[in-house]
Amino acid sequence: MRIMSRLVGLLAGAALLAHAVPVAAQAEYPARPITLIVPFAAGGPTDIVARIVADHMSKTLGQQLVIENVVGAGGTTASTRAMRATNDGYTIIMGHMGTHAASVALYPKLAYHPSKDFETIGLAAGTPILIVARKDFPAKDLKDFVSYVKANADKMNMAHAGVGSVSFTTCLLLNSLMGVKPTAIPFQGTGPALNALVGGQVDYMCDQIVNLVPQIKAGNIKAYAIGTPERNPALPDVPTSKEAGLPAFHAVAWNALFAPKGTPKPVLDKLTAALDKALDDEATRKRLFDLGSDIPGKDRRGQEALSKLVTSEIDKWSPIIKASGITQ
Ligand code: ASP
Repeated sequence: MRIMSRLVGLLAGAALLAHAVPVAAQAEYPARPITLIVPFAAGGPTDIVARIVADHMSKTLGQQLVIENVVGAGGTTASTRAMRATNDGYTIIMGHMGTHAASVALYPKLAYHPSKDFETIGLAAGTPILIVARKDFPAKDLKDFVSYVKANADKMNMAHAGVGSVSFTTCLLLNSLMGVKPTAIPFQGTGPALNALVGGQVDYMCDQIVNLVPQIKAGNIKAYAIGTPERNPALPDVPTSKEAGLPAFHAVAWNALFAPKGTPKPVLDKLTAALDKALDDEATRKRLFDLGSDIPGKDRRGQEALSKLVTSEIDKWSPIIKASGITQ
C-alpha cells in the first residue's frame, strides 16, 4: 500500500514537472536568437521590410532576429521549410501576398496551405505595386506603354521573382489586361530583378514600392503607375492606374509574419506584441513610410486581422490566376 501511494505520488510529481517545464521555457522565451526566414533574395522588398521590423523587434525581445534568405519557387520553397520547422517560436517567416495567398491557385500541389499550416503573427506593411520599366523604355505614359507592349509583345522581357511571387502574380494581372504574353524572366527576388531593370537587361516588371522609391527618384527606372486608388506620398508624381487609364490594374501587396502551426500562443503573443511595438516606433515608421509602405493601423494589426486578410486574398487572387490558365 505504502509502495502504491509512493508510486502514485511520484507519478503525480512527474506529471506536474512535465507541465511545469514548457511553461517555464515559454516564460523565458526568447532565450536565443530567432531565425526570420525571408523567402527571396537579399535587397528585395520582403528583405527590406523584414530587416526594418526585425531591427526594432530584436530590441523589444532582447534577442536578435537573424534573417535567413531562402530562395526558390517564388517563395514557396522557403514557406515549405518554415511550415516544417519546429514550432517553438525560434523559426518564423516574413511571408507575403504571393507565398501566403496567390501560391494556392498557382500550385495545385502546394505542400502547405497558408491558412491551415501557419499561425499568424501580424501584418508588417502594405506595399502598393508599381508598373516600372527600364529608363530608356520608349513610352511616355501608361497608355503609350500599353500600346508599345502590345505592338512588341514577342520582343518584351518581363522580370519577376518566380511563380508564386508578387511580381509574377501582379504582372499576370497586368499582362492579361493588356492581352499579351511576354517572355517572363525569373529571378530569385525582385532585388536582383531590379538590378537587371536598372541595367536595361529586361524591359518591365511589377513590384512592391519599398524596392523602387530610390531608383525611381534617381531616374534609374521609369514608373508608369501605382495600383492603388490614391497616389503615394513617397512618389507623388506617379499617377494611379485609374488616372493613367488602366483602372482594372488594382494591385496592392503586403508582407506579414507567420509561424509554423502549433507554435504556443504565449510565444505568438510575444512576437505579435513586439511587431506592434515596432509599428508604433517613430524611427521604424519613418523608414517604412519613406519607402512608400502603408503602415497598418491598429485595426489591421495582430493575429486575427492577418488570418482574415489571408483568407480574403486567397479568394481575391485565385479566380484571377485560374482565369489566366497558369498553374504549376
Ligand atoms: N517581394 C519579393 C522579393 O522580396 C519578390 C516578389 O514577390 O515579387 O524579392
